[in-house]
Amino acid sequence: MHVLNEAPTLPVTVDDKVHEMPAAHAATVAAAKAPWTKPALPTSGDPVVDMREAIRAKLAYVVGKTPATARERDWFAATALALRDRIVDACMASDQSVPNKRVYYLSLEFLIGRLLSDAMNNLGLVETTRAALADLGIDLGTVEGAEPDAALGNGGLGRLAACFMESMASIGLPAVGYGIRYDHGLFRQSFEDGWQREAPETWLAEGNPWEFVRPEATYAIGFGGHVTMAMVSEGVIRRSWHPAETIRAVAHDVPVVGWRGRNVNTLRLWKAEADAPVDLARFNGGDHVGAVASRVRAEAISRVLYPSDSSTDGQELRLRQEYFFTSASLQDLVRRHVTERGDVRSLHHHAAIQLNDTHPAIAVPELMRILLEDHGLLWEDAWHVTTNTLNYTNHTLLPEALETWPVELMERLLPRHMQIIYLINWMHLEEQGRHGRHDAAHLASVSLIDESHGRRVRMGHLAFHGSRRVNGVSALHTDLMRSTVFRDLHALDPDKIVNKTNGITFRRWLHNANPALTRLAVEAVGEGVLDDPGKLRGLDAFAEDPAFVARYAGMRRGRKEALAAIITERTGIAVDPAALFDVQIKRIHEYKRQLLNIVETVALYQAIKAEPHKDWTPRVKIFGGKAAPSYTQAKLIIKLAADVARAVNDDPEVADRLKVVFLPNYSVSLAEAIIPAADLSEQISTAGMEASGTGNMKLALNGALTVGTLDGANIEIRDHVGAENIFIFGLDAAGVQARIAEPNYPRDAILASPRLAAALDMIASGRFSPEEPNRFRPLTDDLRHRDQYLLTVDFEDYWRAQREIDVAWRNPAGWWAKAIRNTARMAWFSSDRAMREYADEIWRVRLT
Ligand SMILES: *Cc1c(COP(=O)(O)O)cnc(C)c1O
Repeated sequence: MHVLNEAPTLPVTVDDKVHEMPAAHAATVAAAKAPWTKPALPTSGDPVVDMREAIRAKLAYVVGKTPATARERDWFAATALALRDRIVDACMASDQSVPNKRVYYLSLEFLIGRLLSDAMNNLGLVETTRAALADLGIDLGTVEGAEPDAALGNGGLGRLAACFMESMASIGLPAVGYGIRYDHGLFRQSFEDGWQREAPETWLAEGNPWEFVRPEATYAIGFGGHVTMAMVSEGVIRRSWHPAETIRAVAHDVPVVGWRGRNVNTLRLWKAEADAPVDLARFNGGDHVGAVASRVRAEAISRVLYPSDSSTDGQELRLRQEYFFTSASLQDLVRRHVTERGDVRSLHHHAAIQLNDTHPAIAVPELMRILLEDHGLLWEDAWHVTTNTLNYTNHTLLPEALETWPVELMERLLPRHMQIIYLINWMHLEEQGRHGRHDAAHLASVSLIDESHGRRVRMGHLAFHGSRRVNGVSALHTDLMRSTVFRDLHALDPDKIVNKTNGITFRRWLHNANPALTRLAVEAVGEGVLDDPGKLRGLDAFAEDPAFVARYAGMRRGRKEALAAIITERTGIAVDPAALFDVQIKRIHEYKRQLLNIVETVALYQAIKAEPHKDWTPRVKIFGGKAAPSYTQAKLIIKLAADVARAVNDDPEVADRLKVVFLPNYSVSLAEAIIPAADLSEQISTAGMEASGTGNMKLALNGALTVGTLDGANIEIRDHVGAENIFIFGLDAAGVQARIAEPNYPRDAILASPRLAAALDMIASGRFSPEEPNRFRPLTDDLRHRDQYLLTVDFEDYWRAQREIDVAWRNPAGWWAKAIRNTARMAWFSSDRAMREYADEIWRVRLT
């Protein structure tokens, strides 16, 4: 853990202390500076017995239960606590010297999921733990199932942060992740007659055995108030901020153990607390509710994760969350740096900060403020340190997702930061003038303030201008950054934008999610594949080996049977594991085009009804994903999927040849169950709109064939797996741009495709919603008249690709060869590779 990394000695509380250390503690501190040695706990010499006793001890002394009274959740807590001790041991055993440079990954979201199998696997303790629990009459799988998902994120962006944390620990990159410890993560989704219902998620209801609370690492976070000016010496003016309100950010550390336990990093999550938990005078005066009002207001900041993905709703609480965690993180890392190195001026030599999207973009003025106000740097020096420490990852170019905040709100909530932003912007625009760029259009385009929609601060521009490197997350996305949203800023500094294609951690998405496939790979190409995914390439040689193919197909069959059982348990629908499992799992969003998949399902349904005796390829269409609670159109798409499912699944004429399933509450742990069982991976976004995608990588790695557009990382996946092993259809990004400029393209596309017209007519007629015939008119009307995401235009080519897939599925040898080649050729998409590239080209950290 970083507390251990940052302070090679225990107790960690000493180095983390906010206030001056009382003199009386000096002796304790001196004793603590002696090298740490592992406590001499008794060991039996048998690792299984030791683990069993460790779990029994945790169950009794920490959880307070006996095996007779323990519930599954108690066994989970005891097992997690026993493993956490091993993580601490691994941490102590690793290099404890202060690293030359640390990476700080700031992200408003970490979509972690469960941690138990991750920890066991990376420590090499899966079988030991399984045997220890079996000794106690407990099944490891049941214990794993009792862990709640840490769903502190919405989707791809948050999951990326979690994969990066695991990879940084695995490749030995000293790093701290910073985020918010939300009491309630992403909402729990259920369906009520096919409509999405949201319920609060309660992952902390029974505590979190992985975390260490660090009350000594607490920082004051200010809001509102005013700014004063004082002349500190001849000609030097200092401004200081006097916030009207301060709340406390309290650190909660989750250790992140890397592969083979060689390195342990920390995820430090901030919880918001009130300065004073209760106003005693008011309480004693009888106002029991008013007495805790300020506490309620303060704690609201870390209460819930905002459930919007790829859009912003611009609420004040969201800006408070962003500033809260950014300020706490910067205060923490600056203090650590000064403690270790003495001088804040060298911060950029020893710290690289990555901003995951613009959510922490307020870091630009906040770091400036800390350097100017708390450390007395001159503006130029502070700007030099800031712009050599910060880096920014852009995740989307969709206009509705580009964060801006009204100047008025910023001035009220963060008056000092607004001043700093004005000054940064003034200097930035002056610089343009010095280069002869006086034209208003150019200045308006590069300004940090958007004057055309009220006055708003452009957080993307702010992050861009305050960073040393700015990256996109796939080759296509990075090209589009250079040519569209950031074109004019890019022209000013052409080396600033770099590409870093996303990756996924293979420990979770291959080793843990699919142990059967991992075993097959190890048997075929050797143990080394666990450390070097490049060795997967050796599987290519087995793609047409009948014995290997049979085992690969058997592996998939096993996972499909397991998923079929989950489907029946959760939806009541029986599916045939021999059918093609066609999977689209991701947030519900119009640009991701779940609707294209559903319309194709309707067209296929009509085709089967028209020729019921034809030999159709049996398919199960499997959907999973949440819609933002306020996203009406997305929720209607879910309802359409449910209504189509009801009609299709109940139609005896279709029999088992088409089933439609919507699995509720898509999450990391559900993804881990679905992905190894997928035959086909739907990655069908409108070209140019999906920045990268990472679900596409997880599925291809596990041997699902992709049906996809030339969008995001799909393009690079095609380049790696080979065009003959992927099904590409539809317009590319340039084609989309050209077509969108044509008037009436949906009408022309529908006229040209009777099949599409018939499917839309069927949906619009109320055939799937007889109780409310016009229910889906908002969807069909939009497709007929607007179709912003060019669904109608891509439909026919999508249909063609799907029928090609039907044919391919009927040739098992050919299908499995393609599937195996997908697994064999996906190594490059490991997040270890991504992290090495960031380390090299963005953070300038040398890995040992
Ligand atoms: C990987 C992942 C995502 C991202 O999926 P995309 O298909 O890239 O949008 C979203 N949610 C969960 C739970 C994931 O595991």
